[in-house]
Amino acid sequence: MHELILKPGREKSLKRRHPWVFSGAVAKVTGKPASGDTLEIHSHTGEFLAVAAYSPQSQIVARVWDWTKREIDAGFFRGRIERALALRAHFLPTSDAARLVHAESDGLPGVVADRYGETVVLQLSSAGAVRWRDALADALETVVRPKTIFERSDADVLALEGIEPRIGVLRGAAPPARVAVDEAGATFEVDVPHGHKTGFYLDQRDNRLRLRELAAKREVLDCFAYSGGFTVNALIGGAAAVTAIDSSGPALGLLARNVALNQLPQAECIEGDVFQLLRKMRDQARSFDLIVLDPPKFAPTAAHADKAARAYKDINLLAFKLLRPGGLLFTFSCSGGVARELFQKIVAGAALDAGVDAQIVEQLSAGADHPVALNFPEGEYLKGFICRVAGGA
Ligand code: SAH
Repeated sequence: MHELILKPGREKSLKRRHPWVFSGAVAKVTGKPASGDTLEIHSHTGEFLAVAAYSPQSQIVARVWDWTKREIDAGFFRGRIERALALRAHFLPTSDAARLVHAESDGLPGVVADRYGETVVLQLSSAGAVRWRDALADALETVVRPKTIFERSDADVLALEGIEPRIGVLRGAAPPARVAVDEAGATFEVDVPHGHKTGFYLDQRDNRLRLRELAAKREVLDCFAYSGGFTVNALIGGAAAVTAIDSSGPALGLLARNVALNQLPQAECIEGDVFQLLRKMRDQARSFDLIVLDPPKFAPTAAHADKAARAYKDINLLAFKLLRPGGLLFTFSCSGGVARELFQKIVAGAALDAGVDAQIVEQLSAGADHPVALNFPEGEYLKGFICRVAGGA
């Protein structure tokens, strides 16, 4: 087998079972492995450390499949998928939409599998994952038995691996144009071929349900609303009114459809830029009882953290200004490059500059179908707070 030999002293993170090898840690690679091939990783003194997938074009030059010397073959992937499902047995939501495989945190770097009813969506984002596409599809077919396995390998990170995006049916019938899923009694249509990520933001499920519990009689502003995950739940929870903002017209079209499917009163939909619209609302002295800020990833890596911090501060400051006394802010960051502690500091700075006293009343994160492996803290990308603005005197 091909070997990747580390520079002296660079085995430390692997010994703590962190599953990535950065290109700067590599002394040499023996033989001529192709992109996605399996390598044995050894320390400079020749100690075996792991078997991993080779990503020659990426800064993350190898991702660990296993910490023991073993064959990586179709049986390995079948085993990992069975394990991911078994571990979720007690944690899968009462919903027919859930994440079945969560990449590094399930021992499968670069592999995400989401279930939407009878459709499984497979998203591959590393050379090693793409190399084993067929084995992964076969394993999901055998273990999950869906009607369709659809591939959505079009995440931005693929370009860093030098891999062409691929979207299409892998197994079974073509999926319906929109797959309807039930999430705790709410119906959502998911656009599997064209929607964001694999079609829906499954990671916000628990937080949407929390919003449902807190929305009664409140006037709600849902910023970065996408297909209405938060809007629909606010309406089900008895919100007095909901205003939804998104820059994508098609997303708001799907939002209106999802509201209608649940036989709820329509939300006020505004197509535009949240940064500008919040300023406009401030100038118009509009106010709300509950605001959701669920922006896209401003900082994919720590290198973008400064610029992202300014963007988070900006929208959180404006939101604090728009909240009535006693109002609630559901604020999120899904940026891998912004840790929870930093995000809390940014939100604190925003409240200070807005001139409001606020408390964190709840800490939010992704649900149990998005576990965080303890050896892979990067898995905790979604951080949120429910903040409450002080009431009158
Ligand atoms: N809250 C959603 C997910 C939000 S994803 C849910 O729970 O399903 C982020 C959304 O922000 C996307 O729909 C994208 O179209 C939108 N978006 C990105 N930048 C924006 C901007 N500057 N102003 C308004 N919307 C924006």
